[in-house]
Amino acid sequence: MAQPPADHFKKLIAHSKEYGFIFQSSEIYDGLSAVYDYGPYGVELKNNIKDCWWAAMVQMHENIVGLDAAIFMHPKTWKASGHVDAFNDPLIDNKDSNKRYRADQLIEEYIDKLDEKIGKEVEKAAKRFGDTFDEELFRNTNPRIVEYRQKAESIAHRLATYMSASDMAALKNLIEELEITDPESGSRNWTDVRQFNLMFSTQLGNIAGEEGKLYLRPETAQGIFVNFLNVQKSTRQKIPFGIAQIGKAFRNEIVARQFIFRMREFEQMEMQFFVRPGEEMQWYEYWKNARMRWHLAMGTPQEKLRFKDHDNLAHYANAAVDIQYEFPFGFKEMEGIHSRTDFDLSSHQMLSGKKLQYFDPELNESYVPYVVETSVGADRTFLAMLSQSLVEETVPDAEGNDSTRTVLTLHPALSPVKVAVLPFLHHKDELTNAARDVFNSLKFSFQCQYDEHDAIGRRYRRQDAIGTPFCVTIDFETIENNTVTIRERDTLRQERVPISRIEEVVRQKVDIRSILSGLS
Ligand code: ATP
Repeated sequence: MAQPPADHFKKLIAHSKEYGFIFQSSEIYDGLSAVYDYGPYGVELKNNIKDCWWAAMVQMHENIVGLDAAIFMHPKTWKASGHVDAFNDPLIDNKDSNKRYRADQLIEEYIDKLDEKIGKEVEKAAKRFGDTFDEELFRNTNPRIVEYRQKAESIAHRLATYMSASDMAALKNLIEELEITDPESGSRNWTDVRQFNLMFSTQLGNIAGEEGKLYLRPETAQGIFVNFLNVQKSTRQKIPFGIAQIGKAFRNEIVARQFIFRMREFEQMEMQFFVRPGEEMQWYEYWKNARMRWHLAMGTPQEKLRFKDHDNLAHYANAAVDIQYEFPFGFKEMEGIHSRTDFDLSSHQMLSGKKLQYFDPELNESYVPYVVETSVGADRTFLAMLSQSLVEETVPDAEGNDSTRTVLTLHPALSPVKVAVLPFLHHKDELTNAARDVFNSLKFSFQCQYDEHDAIGRRYRRQDAIGTPFCVTIDFETIENNTVTIRERDTLRQERVPISRIEEVVRQKVDIRSILSGLS
């Protein structure tokens, strides 16, 4: 049942809480803004996503190895990486509402509105012209659309130029020129735009002042760069090779809305691929495609994914593209693929005074490798998985009447619980004992759940709502002939199988191989 995106998003947030996927951090104290806790089913789903990434990157590539670097790093790391000087967002306050915004996002939202207007014109015309409608021709020739598009392109170009030049005054002028108002209050009473550093800092116990100032890492990548030679030497990797890492990152985001899309504490899955200088563009293309295939293999429909080249390159990159996902609030970045040149290794080499070079036996020369990075948010992938799998649908109930069910149609390999074991009646010892036996044999292989409360129909619905692909029901026939019914979440088909076959039936669907095989 299709729902307007805003309603769907509200339902998703409510569902996440009600069914133990995501809770607001410190909720009993009214929460901490943009910080979230993963509940019992959330942690399972997130771990499954991380396992799929790790298997696709580390297990399936003989030349990619893993790392788990500490969150705290020597403060010079962040000087070398450019984060102390340049990891800023342009901040603007509205003097009437006292609300804080990112100046670049206010301008981007203005551009999005122009795109929406184009979309509406196209929709109207499609209705008017019916089957004879030529959308491409209409987009290229309709004067109103051409005007909107030119305006959007010109603003996007100016935004990229001002951001690259860190020209805060020009950003403010653009906001005034476009008459952008505070989305909350409608006021145009803005402060100047100023730079805001996104790193959280803290103090090392035994050193006072600036020298003891530590940062919570804003990305996991730097732990990989500073360990580049340790890893290369200890694993005897030859270029090209990669180092992969999953871990927490922290950013003091100015505007943190949209649930777990933009958090102040989040988790990244990053891989830095070290290559010969000059070969980075071919690897950039390779990883762009490989990473898109991973998202598709996770069950994401093609039309919900797209590439978006960066208009405004970061200080370290010579090429960058995002994989965007169509979240309920529009297409937004889920993953970044960046050609980072030799910027990071060279900067660390310079500031530390330690060589970070690789001796290439084939070329018989040493060089600082170039790096292609793939960086995807575990939380944004989680949000994508939830938002595309949360469905309300009409299905027949036990009497054959229409009833509505809420179901998470997650890929079975990602589901938090793989199989639920349900005695048909809870007050019959022979049924509950038999069900416990089934649970106790399956628990060695899968994340299972035993549930004997409520009527069987309600128990099925509860499992549907957390995305459990199989429910196994133990009834009186089980006692007679050692068979159970297996109910499949998606088809609602119920099949009678011997207890000895349950594991085989479940495994066929929930094996991570069914995702990984989509990658070759
Ligand atoms: P954005 O433009 O949305 O702020 P970014 O370009 O700064 O993102 P990167 O530095 O490329 O993001 O980080 C790589 C990935 O880490 C992103 O694609 C995203 O999935 C994730 N990520 C970054 N910031 C956050 C955040 N505040 N909350 C959740 N995930 C994040």
